[in-house]
Amino acid sequence: MKTASPFSFPVSPALAAKLAKLGLARDADLVLHLPLRWEDETRITLIRDLLPAQTAQVQATVRDAKVAYRPRRMLTVTVEDAAGGVLGIRFLHFYPSHLKLFQPGESFRFSGEVRGGFLGLEMVHPRFVKADDDTPLPTQLTPVYPTTAGLSQAALRKLVTHALAAPIPDTLPAEWRAELGLAELESSIRLLHQPPQASALAELESRHHPAWRRLAFDELLAQQLSLASARRQRNARPTLPLPPRQRLTAAFIHALPFELTAAQERAWQEISRDLAQSHPMRRLLQGDVGSGKTVVAALACLQAIENGFQAAFMAPTEILAEQHYRKLAQPLAALGVRCTWVSGSQRKAERQAAWQAIAAGEADLAFGTHALFQEGGSFQRLGVAVVDEQHRFGVGQRLALMQKGTEPHQLMMSATPIPRTLAMSFFADLDVSVIDELPPGRTPVVTKLVSAARRDDVLVRVREACLAGGQAYWVCPLIEESEKLQLQTAQDTWAVLTEQLPDLRVGLVHGRLKPDEKQAVMAAFQAHEIDLLVATTVIEVGVDVPNAALMVIEHAERMGLAQLHQLRGRVGRGSRESACVLLFETPLSELARARLKVIFELSDGFEIARQDLLLRGPGELLGHRQSGLPMLRFADLERDVDLLEAARNLAQRCLAQHPEIAARHVERWLGSRQSLSAT
Ligand code: ADP
Ligand code: MG
Repeated sequence: MKTASPFSFPVSPALAAKLAKLGLARDADLVLHLPLRWEDETRITLIRDLLPAQTAQVQATVRDAKVAYRPRRMLTVTVEDAAGGVLGIRFLHFYPSHLKLFQPGESFRFSGEVRGGFLGLEMVHPRFVKADDDTPLPTQLTPVYPTTAGLSQAALRKLVTHALAAPIPDTLPAEWRAELGLAELESSIRLLHQPPQASALAELESRHHPAWRRLAFDELLAQQLSLASARRQRNARPTLPLPPRQRLTAAFIHALPFELTAAQERAWQEISRDLAQSHPMRRLLQGDVGSGKTVVAALACLQAIENGFQAAFMAPTEILAEQHYRKLAQPLAALGVRCTWVSGSQRKAERQAAWQAIAAGEADLAFGTHALFQEGGSFQRLGVAVVDEQHRFGVGQRLALMQKGTEPHQLMMSATPIPRTLAMSFFADLDVSVIDELPPGRTPVVTKLVSAARRDDVLVRVREACLAGGQAYWVCPLIEESEKLQLQTAQDTWAVLTEQLPDLRVGLVHGRLKPDEKQAVMAAFQAHEIDLLVATTVIEVGVDVPNAALMVIEHAERMGLAQLHQLRGRVGRGSRESACVLLFETPLSELARARLKVIFELSDGFEIARQDLLLRGPGELLGHRQSGLPMLRFADLERDVDLLEAARNLAQRCLAQHPEIAARHVERWLGSRQSLSAT
């Protein structure tokens, strides 16, 4: 007896595993597995007509095949076509079977890119099939699919062709398509998989082609539908409302040494309103580094607490969690709020006591890292969970903070600004508040690009700044390949700087320090017992030392834009004139040059993020969120803004009026993927 296969043809477990790697779990997925490009194998070109850099197919007979050993081991085959043209073929990777295959006199078709070689024209690693002059040529362009190791194009093509045997019903009614100016689905899909011989490759490859636009739209629509329905489901789940009582919140605002900015005030009102509703809040609070998100988050916690609930304040690292705790515990205690904190570096008994207080409802507000709250005990009455620096956490982790009983409201915070198109697409299940204004009195950070050859000048500057009463950061180069090397570099940098700047107190902080060691260094820096802090990128987020107004970043060309922007945000927090010196090593790659130009010219986080999106695509900006959400394969958020808006509107209408169409559409696009309702 066989179990029902999701494919209409037999699939071995090994094949199924390879297909799964490509996200292909059933026929319908194969239908949507569209080519990256196409090869034109419908024509034969005579060897004498070949031009360098051209991609072409020739029909030729082997004259000679041998293994050469200079300059490296390779198989060279000389072939000749019927018109007497001679072409060299080279294989740098080959098996003994290749040598057997290319017997003199045997006929093949080779297709690939033509190169002007040392001894005339050649092809390196062309595709080839055994074929005689009278073997028929294909009548369609040959699709080239995204594939994975061990799954040949030929095999994949066969599977796709098989899956395409069934009709492909359109999920969108004809009137909607007409209204949106979209092509019909079935013909679009068939055209892309099997373009007829006469199709112009350039036209097909242009993603503005109506067939591609149709697929991009459908993909966006599926995303919008699933996120919108996740949001609807969440809105249907009850939770206890936490209306504003203006007791703790008002007192806290009153006690602040500053006024809230208009943007903070607006964000706070949005959050306060959400908390009063009887379904769980999922709000993302976005604001550039230094925009003052922490105060707003504290207010959210207080609104829960003044309703008799508890709050959790989570940070990505111990340093940050403790910093939040230290900054907030005192002013909150003055209001009668009982704060506690759980940390990996606490003694076990201490931590247990903290958890006990949390479980018994004797602590109102608990600070800690996200990891700790995941492993830890439970809250008695958790009303609000704040997740700082949300981009560091996965979607999955976002969910972990469920408690038995009612579902808490969640406030996520991110200093990585999300461009509008990303917010509209990948974050469509969340509500977003934006703090788009920095507190007054900040001095803008002057950014300098300095070649590493002028490191000595920079040292002089650091020394002067510190001797004048300031403090500085020295950020070590990022070494992605090896954590060990990264650590080594940090220690070396520290040793060198200690020697070069004997009259400064130089400290070192890096990711491998134990949490309490890290904390001790940060506390010393905060207390100005350290002038110059050598750091790996662990200081990336959240650290707040207003007296540190100078930052030097080594090998800035290795860092991403978001990271540079975050780092730079550590300075310019006080009234001192602030500067960020980006040391770079030459020669610069194209991308590194473009990034440094952006960070040099721009200071607005949103604009930087937009440039980042342009330079790199959405993957990096989404951070871990992508792990839970299928990436867009066909739609491009810059190019397809119009489609995104249209998909968003249609998703609303569709869910409200035609849920059956919505269900069918989501099933086609996401049916075999993991469940999306991850909020
Ligand atoms: P981030 O948004 O990066 O988390 P923080 O919340 O750490 O920023 O705030 C940065 C600094 O600005 C803190 O020292 C904080 O006390 C201060 N701050 C916050 N809001 C205001 C305000 N409205 N006016 C003046 N200073 C503020
Ligand atoms: Mg912060």
